[in-house]
Amino acid sequence: MAVTNSEIAAIFSRIGDLLEIQGENPFRVRAYRNAARMVRGLSRSLAEMVEQGEVLEALPTIGKDLAAKIREIVATGSLRKLTELETTVSPGLVDLLQVPGLGPKRLKILRDYLNIHDVGELEKAARQGLVHQLPGFGVKTEQNILRELSELQQRIRRYLWADVEEIAEQLLAYLRKQPGVKKVEMAGSYRRRRETVGDLDILVSAAKSAKVTDAFTAFEAVERVISKGHTRSTVVLRTGLQVDLRVVPQVSFGAAWHYFTGSKAHNIAVRVMGVQRGLKVNEYGIFDKQGKRIAGRTEKEIYAQMGLQWMEPELREKRGELEAAATGRLPKLIVAADLRGDLHCHTTRSDGQDSLEAMAKAARALGHDYLAITEHSQHLGIARGLDPDELLAHCDAIDELNDRLAGIRLLKGLEADILEDGSLDMPDHVLQRLDICLGAIHSAFGLSEKKQTERVIRAMDNPHFNILAHPTARLIGKRPACRLD
Ligand SMILES: [Zn+2]
Repeated sequence: MAVTNSEIAAIFSRIGDLLEIQGENPFRVRAYRNAARMVRGLSRSLAEMVEQGEVLEALPTIGKDLAAKIREIVATGSLRKLTELETTVSPGLVDLLQVPGLGPKRLKILRDYLNIHDVGELEKAARQGLVHQLPGFGVKTEQNILRELSELQQRIRRYLWADVEEIAEQLLAYLRKQPGVKKVEMAGSYRRRRETVGDLDILVSAAKSAKVTDAFTAFEAVERVISKGHTRSTVVLRTGLQVDLRVVPQVSFGAAWHYFTGSKAHNIAVRVMGVQRGLKVNEYGIFDKQGKRIAGRTEKEIYAQMGLQWMEPELREKRGELEAAATGRLPKLIVAADLRGDLHCHTTRSDGQDSLEAMAKAARALGHDYLAITEHSQHLGIARGLDPDELLAHCDAIDELNDRLAGIRLLKGLEADILEDGSLDMPDHVLQRLDICLGAIHSAFGLSEKKQTERVIRAMDNPHFNILAHPTARLIGKRPACRLD
């Protein structure tokens, strides 16, 4: 149940990789890698050693700092340092590290010469024959890279949550229609609504497990069946997305649903609470000292045994939700029906997909009270940004439409570029005409934290400035957040 040595080792070696990509001091990088190797080869469980209060610093390669990190991982199932690093390094680059033969040094060359940040960009460049011309690369390396990439893409691909929603809902509806099926639910990161999803985990309870398994593997979007068993089957969909189906008895459905929903750190914390109460918590239920199952049918039962309220899956990330649930202070999540309007949208006047009028009517149909029209400013040439005269003419068009259209209020806005010196890409006398002004970073993402923060603060000092749009300028899975205090 406790954190295993290999999990701790994996965290350390990942930190080593991330630090190396960032060009950190090689000694620090090596310290993490050596620690990972030592932990992997250790015959005793570190979790046990921590529990028994042993001195971890006595282990080779483990100093004070790493010992504290091991204790943190054992206690929480994760490490803050890693979470922090993961937000600063582009995930696409981390994936590239897994290509055999591509170390951080070569990654740096690919980035510097060809602006390559993820697997897709590397594949394109290799196919165009650009890679073998780089210093330290040859034709053979380029061919190897192409061969490795095709395999890697299957292994590491993560999907945007929104991109898998449609197929996930179709699959659920399909399984729920099957005869003998009592309950079908999605678990995992999809249920927790993480930004990205690595695979789908589905739980089923059914009268006859063989029938539902047959139906699952016969689902029309399935490309191949990896395994098919009594309690667990795995398929790969045509999109490359892997789906696991587990057949679970009803008496332990809630326990399994809780367990497979995660997060891992949340689960570990719940299990620790169980241990403190003399209870064993696992995916089959909660068991007392005599081994009798005392909860498991519903998630509510599981939480109730810990003295906790049931909580939304989105909250289960070990960020204080257990403490909040224990004292009845869980937050109420914002849902779509809470939205009254939208303060950031584009029309075909800059880089949007629909006309001013179509956007206004769509917002009204959603039941919104207001919609701010916030085109790009001229600095963003690729998005057909507006110059001062064009913006003023656009304001007239918005006023005119407001007069004509009932049931929705349009706000005259702008998504002004925050230039590198912190000024806004539109003169004040034009900004004055607007109802709302967003400022956004679309260039010089890589400034130091100090410079980036100064730049944004200077923009905010403009009296017309209202909202910092997409504050960190990250693109999920593609571009890391810019450094901003
Ligand atoms: Zn923008």
